[in-house]
Amino acid sequence: MAVADSWHVWWHRRQHQWLVVGGNGNGGRHRMTADCCDRLMRPADDDVDQVWTMMRLLLLALLGWSLGNQGYHWGCAHRRDQGRRSEFAASKKMVARRFVVSYNGTELPIDYDTEDGFEVLKFQIFSLTSVPPDEQKLTAGDRDILITEESDLVAISEGLRLVSIEDGAVEKPESFQQLGQSDEELARMLQAEEEALFFQQFQSNEGTKEFEQRVRPYVDRVLQYEDPVRQEAARKSVPVEEIQEKALVSLAKEGNFKPSKDEEDHSFLLQLLIWFKQSFSWVNSPPCDNCGRATSNIGMGAPLPSETMFGASRVELYRCNFCSCITRFPRYNDPLKLLETRRGRCGEWANCFTLYCRAFGYETRLILDFTDHVWTECFSNLLGRWMHLDPCEGIYDNPLLYERGWNKKLNYVIAIARDGVCDVTKRYTRKWPEVLSRRKITTESSASVFLSSLTKELRAGYSSKLLEHRDMKELEELESGLHTQVDSSLSLPGRQSGDVEWRMARCELDSNEQNSLSISSCPVRKCVDVHVTNIYNAFALLLSFRYENAISKGEAIAALQTLKSLFVDLRAAPFKERKAFLSSTLRLSEEVLFYLKELCKALSLKDQFGSDGRLCVSLADDPVQTSLALPVALDLVDEIIENFDKHCGKDAPQFPTFDRISSGFVLASGEELPVGISTSAFDGSRMTKWEEPNGAKGCWLLYKVANDQRFVLKSYDLMSANDAPERDPMEWVVEGSNDGGLSWTILDKRISQLFEKRFQRRSFRVEITSLCNAFRFNFISVRDPNATSRLQIGSINLYSKASIKS
Ligand SMILES: [Zn+2]
Repeated sequence: MAVADSWHVWWHRRQHQWLVVGGNGNGGRHRMTADCCDRLMRPADDDVDQVWTMMRLLLLALLGWSLGNQGYHWGCAHRRDQGRRSEFAASKKMVARRFVVSYNGTELPIDYDTEDGFEVLKFQIFSLTSVPPDEQKLTAGDRDILITEESDLVAISEGLRLVSIEDGAVEKPESFQQLGQSDEELARMLQAEEEALFFQQFQSNEGTKEFEQRVRPYVDRVLQYEDPVRQEAARKSVPVEEIQEKALVSLAKEGNFKPSKDEEDHSFLLQLLIWFKQSFSWVNSPPCDNCGRATSNIGMGAPLPSETMFGASRVELYRCNFCSCITRFPRYNDPLKLLETRRGRCGEWANCFTLYCRAFGYETRLILDFTDHVWTECFSNLLGRWMHLDPCEGIYDNPLLYERGWNKKLNYVIAIARDGVCDVTKRYTRKWPEVLSRRKITTESSASVFLSSLTKELRAGYSSKLLEHRDMKELEELESGLHTQVDSSLSLPGRQSGDVEWRMARCELDSNEQNSLSISSCPVRKCVDVHVTNIYNAFALLLSFRYENAISKGEAIAALQTLKSLFVDLRAAPFKERKAFLSSTLRLSEEVLFYLKELCKALSLKDQFGSDGRLCVSLADDPVQTSLALPVALDLVDEIIENFDKHCGKDAPQFPTFDRISSGFVLASGEELPVGISTSAFDGSRMTKWEEPNGAKGCWLLYKVANDQRFVLKSYDLMSANDAPERDPMEWVVEGSNDGGLSWTILDKRISQLFEKRFQRRSFRVEITSLCNAFRFNFISVRDPNATSRLQIGSINLYSKASIKS
């Protein structure tokens, strides 16, 4: 290991441990924790010198800590002559510079030696402000220049400003990106890694046993997933067809009506995860078996034979807060039992979900995180790699969730499968040296020897060539992924965006400096919504027939109710063979039949009279087309009936109307994936919405018309979403462009708009006539920007006055 010539010691409040930074004289620095120091104190003959050094430093820092009135104190010492303990002076070095850090309105002076480097400065600032170094954003000068490792600290004197990440709204991924980009940082990480490995050598052999004891039991568990009885039971408890339909519909919404097997399998797995999350329940304290009310834990009980039979060696006992009855909560380990109880904590969730994945033929692993969490990984043929799936969270392919999102201090993350065990920690961290310093149970080589021998044992009976190839690929992936950003958008919906077709290129938009709104990290997405326009047209025809023939309101409602029950019957039928009969209350004149046919066509259905004279409606084409369109028709018929009920006769709002614009491309300033994807605003379904996570005080959505058509915008609808009224838009401007988005004209402006209820559709007429091939909604404010950072819209419809092919 490199020997440092100076050390800094401080107390890290969040990690509750002493931290030591040493510099090696070449400007390089490395960090280690006091745990390392602790291990250093074990007899290691050639390092006795350092042991003394560290002990003295710790004492110094402790002393400083107890004296410092803020609870932190800076201990600093330098070794002038390596190897001569007596020369090691525990004194403060000369101050080279004074900075004034302004933070939250207060000015904090810091005495700082510019030779100490940027990291030390950051920790000094940490000791004064409690903003962790990772979250600090330092700026200087009038122009708020960001201070980095490369900045000339000597040139920057007073006037340093600190903005913590939370205050400055700088997203964390950026700092990670920087981490991945800087060579110096990389070198430092490698250095730290080297040191952590060095300290691990002092581990005893007993650790290997402990490591084995943690991993072994899970091997038996994953072997249970191979049992045909358990697999069959699992498959039987799943509404397979429903999940399959959802998988196909989610692909269709991306424009993929003919998915490959790998695409379909991948999509099915994600829908299985969503279904599982909804069907399983989380237990903190179970409800009372007797009266169903709240209980309190009273300790552990002895397991009954019926409980141990399903692997419940631990039974928690709860007493009802009302009737005093005792409720048992056996922690079952057998997934067969969990298929029935469908409840538990993360252990039960991951156990049961992993069985489901195996039961549907996915290559599956149970992932054991030694810091007390369990989840699943499946091999996605589509992505060509292992994919993280957390059933408790319903989150997939987001392996940095724990370290970044939960701030978890990971150490070992081990994958356990029927055909091998594997250390996958590196997939879940971007702070490998830090993780390494926490891997204290055993040495890396002992752990690796154990894992490979266990893999060998498990692999007897499998052809291992393919598996070895996959292992090699994964190893490469884990190593290379360690310093790079994970592209989580890969597995998210809509990844094949319409960029190619959209000539208004992203770079073109971004270079338009007047328009700072153009900056977006979202891809351009294509709206798959021709069916919505077709359904609107069919209903608009039906409604015009009513006016022309002076059909009474009562009769019209009755007819609509008949239609509705037809749709409900169709929805209830299995999606691959939908079929339903129209009850005969409808007056089926030639004209009505024609309109019905149009409606059926819009839903990819066909109608024919059966021998009994009843009209039978069945699938005409791709069943997925019908699956996609049916919810739209159902929402629509509900809304029309509601409008009839509310308004009398001709005062009813003209909805739906003709000339709805479809098949365009959408780009939003932001979107919440996967639930608030931008195209959801145009899919005709009220239950889906566009959600802009940072849109409360301004955001935008661009709509580019397809096929180089130009339209005059006649009117548009906005519908409030399912919940959170504070996120409703209240002020906005609609603009149009006839050059694909380079220049804009204001078409409409609205202020103080209020949506009184959920799913309320409001229509706005546009008075300005301008032929456009792109439209832009600039949302200026939501209803209550103080209560939310988000904006959401259930539906947007654009209607044209005229269509001209250019
Ligand atoms: Zn009770």
